[in-house]
Amino acid sequence: MAQGSLDYLKEQLAELEAGGLAIHPRTLEGEQEARARFDGRDVINLASNNYLGLAAHPRLKEAASRAAAELGAGSGAVRTIAGTMSLHRELERKFAEFKGAEAALMFQSGFTANSGTVAAILRPEDVIVSDQLNHASIIDGARLSKAEIKVFPHKDAEAADRLLGETRREGRRQLLITDGVFSMDGDIAPLPDLVEVAEKHGAIMMIDDAHASGVLGPGGKGTVAHFGLDPRRVDVQVGTLSKAIGVLGGFIAGPPHLVEWLVNRGRPFLFSTSCPPAVAAACIAALQIMQEEPERIERLWDRTRFFKKGLQDLGFDTGQSETPITPVVAGEAQAAQDLSRLLWEEGVFTPAIVFPTVAKGQSRVRTIVTAGHTEEDLKEALDAFERVGRKLGLI
Ligand code: PMP
Repeated sequence: MAQGSLDYLKEQLAELEAGGLAIHPRTLEGEQEARARFDGRDVINLASNNYLGLAAHPRLKEAASRAAAELGAGSGAVRTIAGTMSLHRELERKFAEFKGAEAALMFQSGFTANSGTVAAILRPEDVIVSDQLNHASIIDGARLSKAEIKVFPHKDAEAADRLLGETRREGRRQLLITDGVFSMDGDIAPLPDLVEVAEKHGAIMMIDDAHASGVLGPGGKGTVAHFGLDPRRVDVQVGTLSKAIGVLGGFIAGPPHLVEWLVNRGRPFLFSTSCPPAVAAACIAALQIMQEEPERIERLWDRTRFFKKGLQDLGFDTGQSETPITPVVAGEAQAAQDLSRLLWEEGVFTPAIVFPTVAKGQSRVRTIVTAGHTEEDLKEALDAFERVGRKLGLI
């Protein structure tokens, strides 16, 4: 390789830096908790997806330690070769039950669950009708499938209906796909309308419930349960084990032939090593806690309502959020970076989210409340938001 052949990346990074678009991840020193230490500073942590406060729960740590002690640190192979352990299977059975589905399959991440599934169930002659704000893993899966991609305006079920009508042809499969809870805005997909539209056109209905599993609906079962829909009306439910469940991994829930197909044709499943046994064991412990302690979900929603109302009463633009994800929209990238930086200086960690994660001019900080935050934590954070918001002229 010629020396200096990647030098253009330095210029590109300088451009990102100048535009306020460069990302510099902070380092967590210690456990992922509501108050945590990042980069040597103790802060109120509004940055994680640790909705139920399970990431560092003693029972998860203990389950992970025991599994590591008894079964080792790694699974040793991809699932289809020699890496399927009984803990993976047990977790899958429990997840299918949790989602009211016949079967479930674990992936190494929510990202690969989405991208691997979309790519595996469609052919280039098929079509994907996808919400404008769907997660990057859905977009990547759609591109990998080589199917035609049609994007409908955010949450617009009528537009989805039109697109399915326009692209319908004999022998062509159609996939209607949406996030359950949108990750940067915290609003909820109009799932009942979308399910009806999918049924009208005979399309496959798929939902990415990464931010809804463990959060939304009775028992945290997700968006399908939130709307009281029969789970059989949604062909594929995707979830992640890295957010409310507090660990790592993704899963899909659906009919057994979907699972069997993904075992044979889901590329991340076929070509990438499975999660270590400690991960599966900790996920099983998390599911158990969710069932035993439904008050965790209630606490999450209590705190969410308190904090969201606090931000709104102060006059911040919190968009359309209906869930523990509450964006505070600042506008241009630099404004969001300034908001994030000044909050950090006040002891509140809430990262700036800029293009390409959100549209230009829609830069924001994203706050996520968890069941682990106390009202005192959130009051302190609101006071900081007030001081910084006034300083920056956002309120
Ligand atoms: N879908 C959505 C909507 C997400 O926000 C995320 C996480 N950023 C994922 C999928 C991917 O999940 P994971 O982090 O488990 O790969």
